[in-house]
Amino acid sequence: MGAIFKKELSEEQLNELFHCDEKCFEFLAEVKWEHGFTCRKCGNKNFCPGKTPHSRRCTKCKTEESAAAGTIFHNCKFPVHKAFYIAYNVCKGKEDLSSYELARRLSLRQMTCWNFKTKISHAIQEMDSLSENERGSIQKIFK
Ligand SMILES: [Zn+2]
Repeated sequence: MGAIFKKELSEEQLNELFHCDEKCFEFLAEVKWEHGFTCRKCGNKNFCPGKTPHSRRCTKCKTEESAAAGTIFHNCKFPVHKAFYIAYNVCKGKEDLSSYELARRLSLRQMTCWNFKTKISHAIQEMDSLSENERGSIQKIFK
């Protein structure tokens, strides 16, 4: 699980991302493939759209990669824009919202929020042990 964020998010982007999944995937895809697409399996550079929003499918070996693959939002069991909201709140570290408060605001189960919060915190700790270059940083984009 690496950080794929290498770009700072503007206030406008944040607000957009928090409102729908579509925008979140678009953002993830944009950052992930900013230097172009390369198939993880065969190295081919050509792709066509995949089945899920903003995913890409290799034209050679047909391997599909979702926009969230390799990020903390991969296999998220609840709407990804809600996950962005939690990540934002954990990363900016201004007000420490409890998992109860997050659950209330996002209409999610408290346990779901707690689990994801924990996951983000661990990811940040992991990133702290990375070098400046490797970091890319979820903290940076959510500042
Ligand atoms: Zn391929």
